Amino acid sequence: MVPERAAAPASGWCARDVPTVCAELGASVGGLSPEDAADRLARWGPNALPAPPPTPWWVVLARQFISPLIAILIVAGIVTSIQRHWVDAGAIFLVLALNAALGFWQERKAARDVRALQELATTSARVRRGGVVEVIPAEDVVPGDLVLVESGDRVPADARLVEVNALLADESLLTGESLAVLKGTAPVAADTAVADQTDMLFTGTLVSSGRGAGIVVATGARTQLGEISALVRRKPPRTPLQKLTHSLERRIGVVVLISVVFVFAAGLVSGYSVSDMFRVAVALAVAAIPESLPIIFTVAMSVGVSRMARRGAIVRTLPAVETLGSTTVIASDKTGTLTENRLTVERLWTMDGDIVPGEATDQLTMRLLRAGALTNEAGESARGDLAGDAVDVAMASVALTAGAVSAVERARPPEHHVPYEPARRYSLTVVREPDGARMQYVKGAPEVVGALCESLAVPGGTVPYDVELVMIENARLSRDGLRVIAVAERVLPPDAAVDAPPSGMTLLGLEGMDDPPRAGVADAVAECRSAGIAVKMITGDHPETAQAIARRLGIATDRPPVTGAEMAELDDRVLTARLEEAGVAARVAPGDKLRIVEVLQRGGETVAATGDGVNDAPALRAASVGVAMGRGGTDVARDAADLVLTDDDFTTIVEAVEQGRVTFGAIRKATFFLLSTALAAVFALSANVLIDQPLLFLPVQMIWINLVTTGIQDIALALEPGEGDELARPPRGRREGVLSRVLWARTAVTGVWMGLVVLAVFAWSLNTGADVDHARTLAMATFVLLNFYQVGNARAERTSLVRLSPLRNKALVVTAALAVGVMWAVTVWEPAAALLEVTPLSLLEWAGCAAVAASVLVLVEAEKFARWLLLRRRRLVDEMQD
Ligand code: ADP
Ligand code: MG
Repeated sequence: MVPERAAAPASGWCARDVPTVCAELGASVGGLSPEDAADRLARWGPNALPAPPPTPWWVVLARQFISPLIAILIVAGIVTSIQRHWVDAGAIFLVLALNAALGFWQERKAARDVRALQELATTSARVRRGGVVEVIPAEDVVPGDLVLVESGDRVPADARLVEVNALLADESLLTGESLAVLKGTAPVAADTAVADQTDMLFTGTLVSSGRGAGIVVATGARTQLGEISALVRRKPPRTPLQKLTHSLERRIGVVVLISVVFVFAAGLVSGYSVSDMFRVAVALAVAAIPESLPIIFTVAMSVGVSRMARRGAIVRTLPAVETLGSTTVIASDKTGTLTENRLTVERLWTMDGDIVPGEATDQLTMRLLRAGALTNEAGESARGDLAGDAVDVAMASVALTAGAVSAVERARPPEHHVPYEPARRYSLTVVREPDGARMQYVKGAPEVVGALCESLAVPGGTVPYDVELVMIENARLSRDGLRVIAVAERVLPPDAAVDAPPSGMTLLGLEGMDDPPRAGVADAVAECRSAGIAVKMITGDHPETAQAIARRLGIATDRPPVTGAEMAELDDRVLTARLEEAGVAARVAPGDKLRIVEVLQRGGETVAATGDGVNDAPALRAASVGVAMGRGGTDVARDAADLVLTDDDFTTIVEAVEQGRVTFGAIRKATFFLLSTALAAVFALSANVLIDQPLLFLPVQMIWINLVTTGIQDIALALEPGEGDELARPPRGRREGVLSRVLWARTAVTGVWMGLVVLAVFAWSLNTGADVDHARTLAMATFVLLNFYQVGNARAERTSLVRLSPLRNKALVVTAALAVGVMWAVTVWEPAAALLEVTPLSLLEWAGCAAVAASVLVLVEAEKFARWLLLRRRRLVDEMQD
């Protein structure tokens, strides 16, 4: 039976006691059966908020016309129409239409891609069904389900709590209240405001600490969040690069207007007619305006985002793509990111000896193993193996294998349990042992557990606790890279409360577990070094453990790790210096990570920081790029991050950094191409007026060139896969704009050179007696071919073009060939030739144009070669000095 009530918004549930809630929902605290859950899912639909309505198509279309550059083109089109140059006017409006269509299509595609990515990032929920705890997509949660939450989870549905353990929820999303609320199970009055319904959990809010279980009372749009979901939607921010290109566009707009006015005046002074000068002005505006800049940006970004996704890095905020490219420090968690987080207990230390699991096990070691397996949250998964926190799984599995505890004993609910939280560094459990004693077991970081101990277990009794002895053994195990957990016990006195705080305990021993480094991480760290990126390991683990693993990965320096205790003493300046020298920060409290990130950033670094826990969220938000774990991490961390790793792997961050650099590089290659060819046209058209020749290019011809040369090839340039040396060079400077100084210089020199070549061909042809149409055709062909070579120059910013296989960017090969082919086609196809006022060219003339145009390739290749020689000489000198 599926009751109707669940359809109503979750009101009144807070006032009912648990049995009533269960009865009304046909649910039980033991969970639904899988069949019942399936029925309910069919009945109530998926637990998802309705997708926000997509931006209407006409808004997207209208947006394509909002740009100062497009405005100039529209004015040019209107002026041309008034002058009744119908072909020119038609061509201008055609360009506008094509441009808008392309931009429209691109933007819709980008929006689709983003939606697909969001689907990849859906969260999961833990529910009890058919008696076992299952992890299911949050979408499949139904009213009546028993959901389990723990610190770091995002609550998947509105639920009435039936069980809590120090449960704190951050409900700021719903209530605006940033202080976490302590939850309970006692009903509250029916008219209680959402913010004070302490026996309820609400969709989308975050569990800051503790554990809890609740019966789902509402899903999807029927939840509290569903009712206000329209209010919490946010607009994506503009990326820094987007701002850069926007300001670049504005500046280009101004330059275009000034030069148009100047050339117009100069032309009139030297005797051209007003109508001629209008045509020149329009041609100039068309030539100079890089109307495809925004499209290049969208294409490059969406290609970058999907390439990153393919490698396991999901971009949540667009700026991350380019910020990754300028990252100078990666501050990475150790456990799970640099290492596998697959722990196995390798050593067991007690006062009776130091053994390797599997060896004959003495009494004391059995007690150590048993205690470690009973204050332990590892559970049986549906498949029957152990699941949960890696430390818990390792300790439970070694105890089960040794026969120190049975699965049945482990499954029995404890009398009291304080879950492990990174900020506390221990877990505590009270269980009643078969002999009737109430045992309080604690496991955690040796310093923390040691502070609770008064005695040390020896065979047959105890001796007074010896801090030094235990710390020496701890350090000894840690130096082998083992993560060490101390285990202690005490018999709770009969009159003590079940939740009595731990004190006067007896240390049973230490368990040392190995966490192997992930494959490929050492290589990725080396790559970072050559890419000018420093890698810092951040961990809550013991300094010796961390340093041993850092050494294996090439992260360690000869300086000892910075520790959390040390950090508390240091001021920011000294800390910056320490962090610069040391590769590792160990035994840091969760809050320390935020300070590390902030201190590094204040020192001028661009920091990518990883995190997985609830307490990592502030650091992830503060970092230039916050990186969260898709598998091992919490929802809270993912929410705060810019990038989510689907494989939790450090090497993926490095690949994302490389792709970030490639994306930025592609945008800059396309921009270089666009600006240099525009400069060439502007230079040629203006100079031509000043030297008093017949008009160089007619507006329709200029538009044609823009379409077939820049228009299609620059978009293909945005697809460039990179030159392969992206990680062999230092990060881009923080103040650098879209183009570097070298590229600005190259833009100026090649732009002017190409303009001169076009002018020279035009003038030479006129002087040898060709008619104006023919001379113009020659100049046009030369310009199209110059652009063809210039695309090659643009592809390779640093390396010689001959070292870059053309097949790496097939779209570019096709469009470049198409540009020249289409130019040839219009010269021979009568109707087009008439419209564009061009004439056929002989094979010899084509060859001549191709030869002079090649000069721009030679020019840039020579420059690159000179630069390479210089670099090599500098390296030789450096080597000789060493
Ligand atoms: P990391 O930052 O490398 O993930 P943690 O903050 O998770 O390190 O762990 C810090 C310390 O807390 C560990 O060195 C260990 O002593 C202790 N610890 C970790 N996990 C558990 C656990 N499940 N139960 C008890 N203690 C733990
Ligand atoms: Mg951890």
